[in-house]
Amino acid sequence: MKITNIKSTTVMIPLEAPLRHSNGAHWGRFVRTIVEVETDEGITGFGEMGGGGESAEVAFAGLKPYLLGHDPFQLEEMRFKICNPTASLYNNRTQLHAAIEFACLDIMGKKLGVPVHQLLGGKVRDSVSFASYLFYRLPNERTGEGEIRTVEQLIEHCRELKEKHGFTTHKLKGGVFHPDYELECYRALGDAFPRDRLRFDPNAALSVEDSIRFGQAIEGLNNDYFEDPTWGLNGMRRVRSMVRIPTATNTVVVNFEQLAANILNPAVDVILLDTTFWGGIRPCVKAAGVCETFQLGVAVHSSGELGIQLASMLHMGAVVPNLAFAADAHYHQLQDDILEGGKMKYENGAIRVPDGPGLGIQVSRDKIEQYAEMYREFGGYPYDRDPSRPDWFPLVPNERWADHRVKSI
Ligand SMILES: [Mg+2]
Repeated sequence: MKITNIKSTTVMIPLEAPLRHSNGAHWGRFVRTIVEVETDEGITGFGEMGGGGESAEVAFAGLKPYLLGHDPFQLEEMRFKICNPTASLYNNRTQLHAAIEFACLDIMGKKLGVPVHQLLGGKVRDSVSFASYLFYRLPNERTGEGEIRTVEQLIEHCRELKEKHGFTTHKLKGGVFHPDYELECYRALGDAFPRDRLRFDPNAALSVEDSIRFGQAIEGLNNDYFEDPTWGLNGMRRVRSMVRIPTATNTVVVNFEQLAANILNPAVDVILLDTTFWGGIRPCVKAAGVCETFQLGVAVHSSGELGIQLASMLHMGAVVPNLAFAADAHYHQLQDDILEGGKMKYENGAIRVPDGPGLGIQVSRDKIEQYAEMYREFGGYPYDRDPSRPDWFPLVPNERWADHRVKSI
């Protein structure tokens, strides 16, 4: 089989409301690039990457000279063709590679009539559990609804998500307001849902000292882990030495070099695997094997996903035996998806692993066109800017917190 064409289309899907984080916000929409890999046998595979626009589409078109004629079953060959580790110093293609890898696995599964999880060793679970992903939110631009800022709004939002989707693990994205206020919010979650699991992730915005203070203050709660409280392996190591909660990261261990460094001199206990950051589903499965050997924890990171990327997370989660935590997904914050029939459904806080051939999803070309048109109308947004604070940017560690007493506009 040979690859005959690579197409990419940037789409945007509206969010319920803008999601705040330590660097700025997702401005009321996710922008993603949908990749289609075509073959000489008429089978097309789908991939997905975060961000998009003309530059992403040009970057995927730039892979054609490397990959036209390549056999999509030859994934290791493909990795060295476009992601050789020294060449990658000049042309970082890890995330492009991930999207093409999803598509090639989709093609392989469709050709053989088996789901991707079967190509990866077989599933050890039929569904993957997810955490609610709680964000401080700005109001929806059009409706003025959906703000999450006060303790009451946060608890109510969490209660609604728990009732609707069945979540029993709650992740609070912090790093927006002063840590003392976010501590109050996190403790309120613990009080409101005493039997549920919790995790806090301020995207590395806190100083080491504030991280230690925050971590020690929450030691009595049902914490899964303390995710990226501060920046850097050395910072995380100092926090880990002073706080009796496992540390976790999706920022400072995102490749095999860093994983090796973390094993030789531990700073992080739980590695959040991201099928995009690590360059595909298969690198994540390999990394999970290394973690299994050294008895590090494994969880699933969400860098913002539509259905194709979500499918990659489900297949990865299905085959990793040492996945002992609920996965993260922004997915429930989306208003729609590019799949036929809309979004996949949560049942009891979990999503079923697709069992159809390939990624096992039905991508809707009508929806791709609809949301590509919306992207052309609205365009991208700067991830590292806050629409409610136009001149603001954070420091690391940060001290320029938003004011939780002020209603956002
Ligand atoms: Mg994180």
